[in-house]
Amino acid sequence: MTKKNTVYLGLGTNSGNREENLMRAIEELSHALGNCITKSRFIETEPWGFDSENKFLNCVAAFETEKSPIELLDTTEEIERHLGRTTKSTGGIYHDRTIDIDILLYGNKIVESDRLTIPHPHMHKRDFVLEPLAEIAPHIIHPTTGKNIASLLKEFYESK
Ligand code: ADP
Ligand code: MG
Repeated sequence: MTKKNTVYLGLGTNSGNREENLMRAIEELSHALGNCITKSRFIETEPWGFDSENKFLNCVAAFETEKSPIELLDTTEEIERHLGRTTKSTGGIYHDRTIDIDILLYGNKIVESDRLTIPHPHMHKRDFVLEPLAEIAPHIIHPTTGKNIASLLKEFYESK
């Protein structure tokens, strides 16, 4: 039997019907991966890294899946396309988007490849990721820092 891994995904949207975009993404992810174990509240946040009048709605959701990290990325990208995302961010240039799905954590695995870095390289610098993640999983360990999510969030606030 293949081992199931718990994965935490960060979802964000700042165009169209944002609540519906998040709900549809979670529904499609549940179909493709396996049940959504838990999800955070939806929080409204300012765009990060670019100017836009359109605020984001963000959440974090956990799934159990047998897919490998790269299969998971193929799946999240497929769902992004299906929900109408048309532009990728390249070279740190960000745009409004219908849906962005980031792989935050994959069990306690560390992955470094051209297409994929896990834990997500920016997660500890983003309150729109840390706050919803701390709501559903404060005690899990971030494998590259060895710290739990509640401590990372506390450090984030202290550094501001
Ligand atoms: P962003 O999420 O920074 O707004 P994109 O969603 O356009 O930007 O992703 C840019 C690239 O980031 C993707 O092509 C993907 O291969 C890469 N990437 C690296 N690590 C991850 C990860 N953990 N989760 C999602 N994408 C990742
Ligand atoms: Mg992304």
